[in-house]
Amino acid sequence: MNVIAVYPGTFDPITLGHVDVVSRASLMFKTLIVGIAASENKNPLFSLDERVALATEALANLPNVKVRAFSGLLAHTMREWDSGVIIRGLRAISDFEYEVQLAEVNKQIDKDLETVFIAASHKYTFLSSSIVRDIAGHGGNVDDFVPKCVSNAFVEKFN
Ligand code: ADP
Repeated sequence: MNVIAVYPGTFDPITLGHVDVVSRASLMFKTLIVGIAASENKNPLFSLDERVALATEALANLPNVKVRAFSGLLAHTMREWDSGVIIRGLRAISDFEYEVQLAEVNKQIDKDLETVFIAASHKYTFLSSSIVRDIAGHGGNVDDFVPKCVSNAFVEKFN
């Protein structure tokens, strides 16, 4: 029986769509680890430390959720964190192909790894970190899309 699940991603930055997936997944497992990937190849706007700090603050009200950073192969990190369940969010058909490919690759690397998909809530299907970065980068208000600590971080970053 799996008691620890991991929700990996870049979280650059964490949005209300991510928070929704985390809160729903946290009801299904004893512990949920939000794994923040270094993702250097994606050239993130927020540093790894900033992304971890923002997610930690945004999720502080969920007692069985932990936020940890990782780099390298997710499958190896899953072993290290003693977990066999990967949580991923699915917004639209456009997510499907990439997500299924990723799940298959992780299973090829480690046959004991299962990926569980959580369908995005309808009000967040349009929401992505990249859209939020674009809006904030052009001076738009992102209060409806991200936790308060993230909107504050955008103000600091772009001012
Ligand atoms: P990655 O770089 O690994 O795709 P992201 O931070 O962009 O990292 O996304 C992490 C996971 O969260 C992915 O499975 C993505 O599909 C999912 N996700 C992103 N935005 C939303 C949202 N608005 N609703 C539900 N799931 C989402």
